[in-house]
Amino acid sequence: MLCLLFLSVNGIVILTQKVFKMTLGKNAPLERLGLRYLAALRRELLLDLANLPDDRCAPFRRRYRALLGLPDSDARLLRYRDQLRHLWVNIHDASLARWVEDVHESRERVWLLGYLRGAPYVNPNYFLFPLALSFGATELTAKMAVCANPKCPEPYFLKNRGTQRFCDRRACLAYGQRQHKLRWWQKHEAEQLKAKKAKKRKKPRRRRERRA
Ligand SMILES: [Zn+2]
Repeated sequence: MLCLLFLSVNGIVILTQKVFKMTLGKNAPLERLGLRYLAALRRELLLDLANLPDDRCAPFRRRYRALLGLPDSDARLLRYRDQLRHLWVNIHDASLARWVEDVHESRERVWLLGYLRGAPYVNPNYFLFPLALSFGATELTAKMAVCANPKCPEPYFLKNRGTQRFCDRRACLAYGQRQHKLRWWQKHEAEQLKAKKAKKRKKPRRRRERRA
């Protein structure tokens, strides 16, 4: 089976041909498939971290155990989450510079030398937690949005359209439609009532005309 190995100091992640086909199609060059797969992982990582509830740190760490430099303590992990939430609404927030500092201070390797079909290549270590976050935040900036439904359980989402205000959750879309109708009514209330009154006034006149 065709595989691509990403080696890191503590972990090995194997991306199989099956996963490539599932997520990316069959004909893209292998190098590009690997990078796109990693971009998809970063996307998941950012969404999961931004929406992480205080009491779900352990399952998050289990899911992303292949990452290096993942904080051991819940408090540090939640600090990363809060920094990401700041960046989600303002990419100029100082959190991004802090993550890059964390990369510099990390004892893990930042650059990796690999071989693909016998040819060497050098890539950033995308499995380094603060580096994965930094890449993810900057490449997804334009899509980051916060769902306008105040009751949304996972409000940090990636929008598909520039004007999208609600995430794709059914309850949030329904809430958005209700809000839209309400705003429309508030805007047109006066003219609607005026039109209704005018209609009422016309009816008796027609009855009088018929009697005559
Ligand atoms: Zn929502």
